[in-house]
Amino acid sequence: MVIENYKPDFYLEAIYHLDATTLDNMGIKLVLADLDNTLTAWNNPDGTPEMRAWLEEMKRDGIEVCVVSNNHKKRVAHAVAPFGIDYVYDSMKPFTKGINEAMHRFAGTKENTIMVGDQRMTDIRAAHRAGIRSVLVKPLTESDHWQTQFNRWRERRVTRKIEAKYGQSIYQPKIN
Ligand SMILES: [Mg+2]
Repeated sequence: MVIENYKPDFYLEAIYHLDATTLDNMGIKLVLADLDNTLTAWNNPDGTPEMRAWLEEMKRDGIEVCVVSNNHKKRVAHAVAPFGIDYVYDSMKPFTKGINEAMHRFAGTKENTIMVGDQRMTDIRAAHRAGIRSVLVKPLTESDHWQTQFNRWRERRVTRKIEAKYGQSIYQPKIN
């Protein structure tokens, strides 16, 4: 296993800590957001005030936000409806299908697109394959779904390997 494939460019407390000024300075025009536990939590489908404020900030600054989710169409469409943002479903992370589709739709380039997600095994791996930068955020909530539990176990395993080599993953309040 090449652990660097699971190592993000940045660690951040939550997606809504990505501020427009920092993204502008990084040359980012398109933010690809994982859905479950990155943008919304199962126990708060309408999103938090912070999340809504963040989406407004992105809109004001002309930064596109597109959800890239492995979930199916009905689930994703329903989940993003309160936010009125664009989405790609069945994105097949850790493969690049969904990321490529979103980048094509918004004419994003490898330089001006960033992927944000809560899972190394899917979100970060897919970003590396697509050749774009990535941000790992803390999951918004714990889920007891067995599949998620299994994925979390794999996450912890790769996290241990990355931390043994690169030091502790520190989730920053801000990218700097
Ligand atoms: Mg997720």
